[in-house]
Amino acid sequence: MTTLLATIDVELGARTYPILVGSGLIGDVSSVADLPKADACAIVTNDTVAPLYAERLSRTLAGRYAHVHQVVLPDGEAHKDWQTLQRVFDALVAEHCDRRTTIFALGGGVVGDMAGFAAACYMRGVPYVQVPTTLLAQVDSSVGGKTAINHPHGKNMIGTFNQPHRVIADLDTLDSLPRRELIAGLAEVIKYGVMADDAFLDWIEANLPALLARDKPALAHAIDRSCRIKAALVAADEREDGVRAMLNLGHTFGHAIEAGLGYGTWLHGEAVGCGMVMAADLARRLELIDERQAARIERVVAAAGLPTVAPDLGFERWIDLMRGDKKALAGEMRFVLPCGPGEAMLRSVAPAVVAPTLERCSSA
Ligand code: NAD
Ligand code: MG
Repeated sequence: MTTLLATIDVELGARTYPILVGSGLIGDVSSVADLPKADACAIVTNDTVAPLYAERLSRTLAGRYAHVHQVVLPDGEAHKDWQTLQRVFDALVAEHCDRRTTIFALGGGVVGDMAGFAAACYMRGVPYVQVPTTLLAQVDSSVGGKTAINHPHGKNMIGTFNQPHRVIADLDTLDSLPRRELIAGLAEVIKYGVMADDAFLDWIEANLPALLARDKPALAHAIDRSCRIKAALVAADEREDGVRAMLNLGHTFGHAIEAGLGYGTWLHGEAVGCGMVMAADLARRLELIDERQAARIERVVAAAGLPTVAPDLGFERWIDLMRGDKKALAGEMRFVLPCGPGEAMLRSVAPAVVAPTLERCSSA
């Protein structure tokens, strides 16, 4: 049975697109109605997600497209690279896909980022649809049009802005998601509460047990609220020249943890959860928020099952990594910090000022 629980528009003029949130969506041909007319489509997915959902989506798409191709990539961030991208192009060329062929990105953020980038490049651009299957992808990566692959010297270094034609977030796919991935996705949900909506943070805190139990109405609300906040920031600042940067709350500390330990040791969401606790600590020291608010942020992160104590990377290494962050300008560290209930700001901070936070928040 299909239940459409929410539709959120990402307002970008002629490129405005809807995010559909609901149950049973990938099994229902009405989810793909009104997409640009085409003879063929291609599902880009990976070898973990394909056995779970590719057939169901394929049958649905057969109701609209004469030809439904599948491109199954190896799973993992390690494959978010040129070689794997080339496999997508090879498959599209082999199937004689034309400029109207619509790409469906079925999977988490890795598949979404790669398929979106492939769609931007193939024949100078074909339409694509995000079908996110992780919580992180449903609340974050499938929305906003950032697409990329990694370079050996940096994550997401090669890419472009390319908005999808639609996002189809089917809650049912979250049933099979490993618990650790679910919790990592919750970090980004908590982030939206901290940076933009204090009442939502209250709601999250009260509903964490339901979210962890994968209660559908609770997940639907969390995704709806998160996507609305992100959609508004993307509409206001598509290319991140201003307010969109607020979405990076917890990410400067978080990226340092991910890179410092080696990518994949901590999941991105785990690092962001801990990074928010560190950002709250720094904000409290700078008197942007009070003790109570800092403690509350830490309490919610902990209650979600996310780490709150960072690994000890050593002062020099921490600073080095944070100066290398994409937000840094001319070697100056910049942090998104909470500065009131549901508010955040961007701040340049000197190494000596961040030292007590590194001391307090990382394990010796
Ligand atoms: P992921 O895509 O690696 O998925 C996590 C794991 O879950 C993978 O093993 C995947 O195969 C598996 N999986 C996916 N759906 C499943 C399901 N329904 N059931 C069982 N297993 C499933 O990781 P992610 O957290 O979704 O995304 C992380 C990526 O997203 C990173 O590459 C990051 O750079 C990118 N990202 C992009 C943006 C953006 O704005 N474009 C934002 C945030 C993150
Ligand atoms: Mg993130």
